[in-house]
Amino acid sequence: MNHPPIRKISFLSIVIPVYNEEDMLPVLRSELEAWLSSLPDMETEVILVNDGSKDSSLPYCLGWANENKRVKVVSLSRNFGHQIAVSAGLDYSEGEAVVVMDADLQDPLPVIPEMIRRYEEGCDVAYGQRLNRKGESRFKLATAWLFYRLMRGLVHKDLPLDTGDFRLLSRRCVDALKAMPETHRFLRGIVAWMGFKQAAVPYERSERARGTTKYPLGKMASLAWNAATSFSSFPLRVINVFGVLFALFGLGCCVWALSAYFAGETIRGWTSLIGLVSVIGGMLMLAMGVMGEYIGKIYEEVKKRPLYLVDNLVNFTDSALTENNNGYPGP
Ligand code: UDP
Ligand code: MG
Repeated sequence: MNHPPIRKISFLSIVIPVYNEEDMLPVLRSELEAWLSSLPDMETEVILVNDGSKDSSLPYCLGWANENKRVKVVSLSRNFGHQIAVSAGLDYSEGEAVVVMDADLQDPLPVIPEMIRRYEEGCDVAYGQRLNRKGESRFKLATAWLFYRLMRGLVHKDLPLDTGDFRLLSRRCVDALKAMPETHRFLRGIVAWMGFKQAAVPYERSERARGTTKYPLGKMASLAWNAATSFSSFPLRVINVFGVLFALFGLGCCVWALSAYFAGETIRGWTSLIGLVSVIGGMLMLAMGVMGEYIGKIYEEVKKRPLYLVDNLVNFTDSALTENNNGYPGP
């Protein structure tokens, strides 16, 4: 597919969340700067979002920004998590199109020109789609495989498979995202929901160059649960179905108990009684737990807290600061 460009990009933003990446940052800097200087006639900005790192990532980012004015730093007041860190970067970005990528260079820079090409052909979203994942454990591969397939059922039927947050978004998509300040965010799902013209850019996912994953199993599970419950009421429907099944089962038991009563066999039945009480009790607890999760989410959303708190901003223009209304302190 080689369509002639219908628009030319003149200002590109690159958003990179950074959480305890001190080993990675020097490598990222040298690769990114070399790559940026190879970009022809295009203005660029790199937005590093320090997501409450506890190592020397922040001083490194500040030093880098001090030497290179195209590098901007948003430092959050604590660790808010990857999805919110990315949102903060998008909020402060000013480019015509914005690329979101990880700090560990698992999202290869040479894929970005292909994404830009898709944008210039008229796409609003160009997402990286992994062909393989080198250097990841079988367990991570299996959980990731299951995750994407489950999410497709639960979140959005158009959610692309094997796609992370490595993607290019057009300005109107970024603005649409900014207008959705929901606390529980699953960006990939929101972007799939947005529609517009979206294209996949296949790539080979390389190994993390340095450091260890900041997405251990617990965080993956919470992302999946968040994605499922913030996008659909499917879990509620599941417990409903269970509820109906158990109610029917209970009814059957009543009939059985009555017939036993009339047959004069009422002494026995302790075992079945205990069994029934505990099964039904367990189901009720489960149902209440799932509903509680939703009520908790509603509670979080109605509080209307800002998504994140900003501790420090470096190298931003006044217009970038005045146009952001999702973080705090505001302008
Ligand atoms: N990250 C973040 N906040 C977090 C966890 C991760 O900003 O709470 C960043 C991290 O620094 C990296 C990106 O998100 O730039 C993706 O994390 P990682 O590479 O550890 O995830 P994986 O590729 O293993 O899924
Ligand atoms: Mg990674």
